[in-house]
Amino acid sequence: MTASALAQDDLAAVIGLEVHIQLETDTKIFCGCSTTAEADESPNSRTCPVCLGLPGALPVINEEAVRAAVKVGKALSAEIPEQTQFHRKNYYYPDLPKNFQITQYDAPICADGYLEIDVADRSREITVRRAHLEEDPGSLQHEGGNIETADYTLVNYNRAGTPLMEIVTEPDFRSPQETRAFLNKLEEVLEYLGVFDATRDGSLRIDANISIVPENEFEQDETIPDDVLAAANRTEVKNISSHKGAEQALAYEVTRQKNAVRRDRTIEQETRHWDEARGITVSMRSKEEEKDYRYFPEADLPPLAVRDWQSEIEIPELPAARRERFQREYHLDAESAAKLTSRKAVADFYETVADQFDPGFAATWVADTLLGELNYRDLSVDAIASRRDDFLSVIELVDAGEITAKNAEEVVLREMLDTGADPTRVIEKNDLGTADTDEVAAAVDSVIAENEDAVEDYHAGEDGALNFLIGQVMQKTGGSADPDIVNQQLREALSWVAHSPP
Ligand code: ADP
Ligand code: ZN
Ligand code: MG
Repeated sequence: MTASALAQDDLAAVIGLEVHIQLETDTKIFCGCSTTAEADESPNSRTCPVCLGLPGALPVINEEAVRAAVKVGKALSAEIPEQTQFHRKNYYYPDLPKNFQITQYDAPICADGYLEIDVADRSREITVRRAHLEEDPGSLQHEGGNIETADYTLVNYNRAGTPLMEIVTEPDFRSPQETRAFLNKLEEVLEYLGVFDATRDGSLRIDANISIVPENEFEQDETIPDDVLAAANRTEVKNISSHKGAEQALAYEVTRQKNAVRRDRTIEQETRHWDEARGITVSMRSKEEEKDYRYFPEADLPPLAVRDWQSEIEIPELPAARRERFQREYHLDAESAAKLTSRKAVADFYETVADQFDPGFAATWVADTLLGELNYRDLSVDAIASRRDDFLSVIELVDAGEITAKNAEEVVLREMLDTGADPTRVIEKNDLGTADTDEVAAAVDSVIAENEDAVEDYHAGEDGALNFLIGQVMQKTGGSADPDIVNQQLREALSWVAHSPP
């Protein structure tokens, strides 16, 4: 059967990712220069002979970076070898001051781990082939245009030597959606470990390898024979910097490659560039091969014995385990448990609230109300975590029936977040104390007196009449009454009102 005889549906996408993440350390991976960019720092100000690659300068490994890498390895259930080794990867490019990059080759710090993802009610295990440490190059700044049209190009080595970890998966993904699920999951884990800051500019860079394979080449267990994978021409899409970008770039490539196969065109084995603005991938160059890099051991860094670190370095409870525990321990449904555990700071915050209140009540307040208000303002949970006691005092008042949930959210919480106001002041200023029983009773009486028609409708069994009357009472009490109490008092009062004869 020729490729063109295959319907588009008989072709499957095969995808593998190489994810570069910036490890959160104070200093660069082989020198003492800071990793934190100052607001208006000048180019090449955060540099020294080591990260500038000056002759004779010697690298020293940053222990913090190695520890972070071991944490990632443990979280991925990877093997940490007895010894790990650094290599030089040789290539010439102006952002690389030594003309080689210090990276890892055949003895990476982590090998053979995995991460489980859930897509469309299916759980799949994605194998992480390896994860290694390396240094980031500097950055180029094209003046007056892009790489092809610029008048001249400047180079800034402030980024050079920033610690990166490259996480390489097996070609286990079968759809762009799966890669997005993986990246989300990975980011959750990294955030829990405290080794990664997603908000840092350029902290995530993704290369995606993709090929198209006829579905009849798949084995029964849905794996694909190695020789088929090796024979498939693939493209490597570079320059992806977000989860959404990965999904979009790959969706584009899947269509492009499937169309090529259907038209009997060969897919060039090449590196392509993801043009985010145009939403397309464009050919960059033919792919380098490993031999082009002339890897050899970095003699300035001795092999590092890391096996013992594995047991010594501890990692926190990870998102999946915490999700499960939240469901078990606090009887939350899967959706709330997922919402509350996707960020560690949110999960920690929830647990302090659940310690003091009913866990279900706490979940409603944190997962629905608070996260909703924070998302709307593009704020992180840090905005409230530092004011935990204020938040607790607000829901305490709701719990005690002293202010309504509606007022607590729409007036107090919102003002706290918008202006930083103190909740007690907001409550006083807006006179939000719940209406007392007498006030509600008076409002109920006058609403009944003023709305004869609705009262009649109520007795005639008309749906909606009661809600209308409740609304009237709420209005009279300025929203400060508890709707449940109004409901109850109103029905009681109505039962005493005589029916007018028909
Ligand atoms: P290279 O030597 O070209 O860098 P590797 O074997 O190191 O290739 O794999 C690099 C990435 O390419 C990995 O993420 C891997 O999963 C992926 N990959 C390998 N074969 C395929 C394929 N047939 N289709 C898609 N991705 C693939
Ligand atoms: Zn330096
Ligand atoms: Mg490779």
